[in-house]
Amino acid sequence: MVWLAIQGRLLTQERKLRLHIQVDDTECCLCEEKVMETTRHLFEECKWSKMVWQEIVQWTGIYLINNGIKQFLDGIKEKHWKQFKMETIAAISGAVLYYTWRARNWKKYKGKNVNTKDAVIQIKKEITERIQFLSNSKKVQRCRGFIQHLFCN
Ligand SMILES: [Zn+2]
Repeated sequence: MVWLAIQGRLLTQERKLRLHIQVDDTECCLCEEKVMETTRHLFEECKWSKMVWQEIVQWTGIYLINNGIKQFLDGIKEKHWKQFKMETIAAISGAVLYYTWRARNWKKYKGKNVNTKDAVIQIKKEITERIQFLSNSKKVQRCRGFIQHLFCN
């Protein structure tokens, strides 16, 4: 799913229109801005994903600019972070995309509102579990400071 998002190939309402798939509602369902649901809007401009992103920035203590998924991942590579820190940041951004897309689907097809706070809790849980699972590996131990920060915030 993250890969499709990077390539802009998720079946957003805008893309359905372009593919001549019938859509009855083209507006983003996660905010009230009444704008066309595009990949760019959902993951970069939408209030919902912006709020999640802000909390994630606070959590990691790293100022991450969400200027498009592909640019973001390319930006990570240039930071010269230790391997595990880089992997973790990539995993976090993947989780943000995943939970944004899931919240959109829940709202659209089940009528359920997903609170941004709940999504953030899920993302933190997923990421910290991943770190715990890998905690004995050398690459994790090399990033102790960063990991301590994640667990203490
Ligand atoms: Zn929106």
